[in-house]
Amino acid sequence: MTRDEALKQLEEFVPRMIDYAEDRNRVVAGHTNVSRLSPAIRHRLISEDEVTSAALENYSFSKVEKFVQEVYWRSYWKSWLEMRPEVWSAYRKDLAEMNSGASRAAEKVLSGQSGIEIFDYFASELITTGYLHNHARMWFAAIWVHEFKLPWQLGANLFQQHLLDGDPASNTLSWRWVAGLHTAGKNYLARASNLEQYLAPEILNSHLGGLERLSHPKAAFPPTHESAPSPNPVAEVESGDSLFDAASAGLWLHEDDLNPEPEILERSVRVAVITSLDLHHSHGYASMRREWIMEAAKSTAEQIGPKAEMIVSNDTALALADWAESHGLSTVIAYQPWVGPIRDKLPELKESLRTRGIALCLVRKPSDQVWISLATAGFFGFWKKLLKKHPLLREMRETA
Ligand SMILES: Cc1cc2nc3c(=O)[nH]c(=O)nc-3n(C[C@H](O)[C@H](O)[C@H](O)COP(=O)(O)OP(=O)(O)OC[C@H]3O[C@@H](n4cnc5c(N)ncnc54)[C@H](O)[C@@H]3O)c2cc1C
Repeated sequence: MTRDEALKQLEEFVPRMIDYAEDRNRVVAGHTNVSRLSPAIRHRLISEDEVTSAALENYSFSKVEKFVQEVYWRSYWKSWLEMRPEVWSAYRKDLAEMNSGASRAAEKVLSGQSGIEIFDYFASELITTGYLHNHARMWFAAIWVHEFKLPWQLGANLFQQHLLDGDPASNTLSWRWVAGLHTAGKNYLARASNLEQYLAPEILNSHLGGLERLSHPKAAFPPTHESAPSPNPVAEVESGDSLFDAASAGLWLHEDDLNPEPEILERSVRVAVITSLDLHHSHGYASMRREWIMEAAKSTAEQIGPKAEMIVSNDTALALADWAESHGLSTVIAYQPWVGPIRDKLPELKESLRTRGIALCLVRKPSDQVWISLATAGFFGFWKKLLKKHPLLREMRETA
């Protein structure tokens, strides 16, 4: 997908935003009641604020509040994980240490014969399309954790590998929420009655086998090493004009943010848009996901023009250092990657640049600074603070 295609998809969804609050939980063939913009927002071909602006330019705040709120759920999850990065590290460690029995049990339920036909249907939709509706993600994760009693980490990893919008924060934390680890005493169970209410009959009626197992679901209580982790201050990143020595600063764009601000572009002598195949392979991304990211990165480089290079590499640290050195850069500027695969790679990248005498300077967009440290507790506390602090939302509420 390209940025222009994402913007077109957003424009086409505008007339449907008005029905979103009422319609969003229904799972229907083609998913016409939701925007399907998540891969574009996840990789920042378009931003949360652009989606919000499109909603607020066309409707009053009260008419689209639910939609706008959902858009900032992603920011909430990101902020929450930025403040508690140890949750991501613990998840990655658990995955690395997963016993082979659990992995075999997971493979068995994914063989298409799990015993619950609607689960098999969603598993197939995930793998063949790279998308599942939010409600289907909730049902799938609940069946995985509470009915099949499989480790949530393996389910989260499966989603991360196949979803085109695979997002370390939204995904890991949603799985933890379903499992009952996010909010003490609260978990999510998939009930047959809820599926009957929200899933289109033409889908459900041809996948009824095993549905009775969800008539009276019971919660499994997965083990956890931590109780609710307390929030830490978010690490400061560098900022300011001093980063840009006009002759020698270049911009590295990575897949956490493919939409650079015009000012930062203008001041960078060269731009590298790097697709990190090493990370894709170490995290087991499915080919559909890898191709999506590659196309988005390519379109970003093309849109920037001659000073941008698209680099596809199996060794991001080496590729970045080679690129910076070949252009005589003294500084590489990059948007601070969110907690997740690229962030984990930063120490190696910094070291690789340092050995060539090149500095890596990380920056954040002003719009991200608004919400980055607001997730001190639950979503609604975050939302209240966001409404006060976010200029776009504050202005809309004041004029509403
Ligand atoms: C178990 C589980 C795993 C998930 N994994 C991911 C993931 O890896 N990546 C991901 O982007 N989302 C994830 N979500 C959140 C949500 O399901 C998707 O963002 C949403 O379904 C994307 O479809 P859409 O673009 O049509 O959403 P729409 O309903 O059109 O919503 C508009 C936008 O709001 C944001 N949004 C909506 N709902 C949520 C939500 N619950 N949490 C966070 N942001 C939301 C997305 O950016 C979305 O594009 C997960 C949810 C669950 C329950």
